[in-house]
Amino acid sequence: MLPEIEQLLILQDRDRKIRLLRQEQKTAPLERKALEDKLTSAQTQLESVRLKAKEIEVERKKLENEAQTVRDRIAKYQAQKFQTRKNDEFAALSHEIERGEKDIQSIEDRELDLMEAAEKQKAVISESEKQTSAIKAQFDRQTADIDEKAKAITAQLGEIEADRVKLAEAVEEDLRDTYDRLIRSKNGEAVVGLQHDVCSGCHMKVTPTTSSKCRSRKEIVHCENCARILYWED
Ligand SMILES: [Zn+2]
Repeated sequence: MLPEIEQLLILQDRDRKIRLLRQEQKTAPLERKALEDKLTSAQTQLESVRLKAKEIEVERKKLENEAQTVRDRIAKYQAQKFQTRKNDEFAALSHEIERGEKDIQSIEDRELDLMEAAEKQKAVISESEKQTSAIKAQFDRQTADIDEKAKAITAQLGEIEADRVKLAEAVEEDLRDTYDRLIRSKNGEAVVGLQHDVCSGCHMKVTPTTSSKCRSRKEIVHCENCARILYWED
């Protein structure tokens, strides 16, 4: 193999690694975001079930006050009932008292329903709290892993990039320019093997002249279809 080809293949290997590490670097914030979203959604859910419990409590207090108002009214009517001497007024007050008692019964029924709902909501909150704290623990653990991994990738990238600079410096300038242009335009594949006269970059058959030049391993040969640099693969 031509020494230049060997140099370029090592360079290409480093470029491939750099590209992969940069891609991995991009996934870290996305993974973090997904975990954050999951946690936020659990916290929002918890807030909403807690709010529901508060609403039930407010409603229950309201009914309690309502019942008290009716009780006060009944007490007032009862006092009036014993003072009156008029039959029709007595009858009217008795009727009002009876109606008030019915109202209290219906308010108390609604209070019971709300107390039952409050009990159920307590269980819902407890389940939601459990879920949220599990998700928070998972979030802490996984984001720590992500941060650690990101740090390792940055360190590794730094090393490989430094190595790449040295390797690139050793390549003759014109060839390096050609390589750099190809690596950018050919999706990271600048130097490819020639197998049975077929360029493994574009999968086209090259001319016999190109093939024999490549086989002789004396000069840098390009695929006439895709312009990639070719090397002979036995
Ligand atoms: Zn080609």
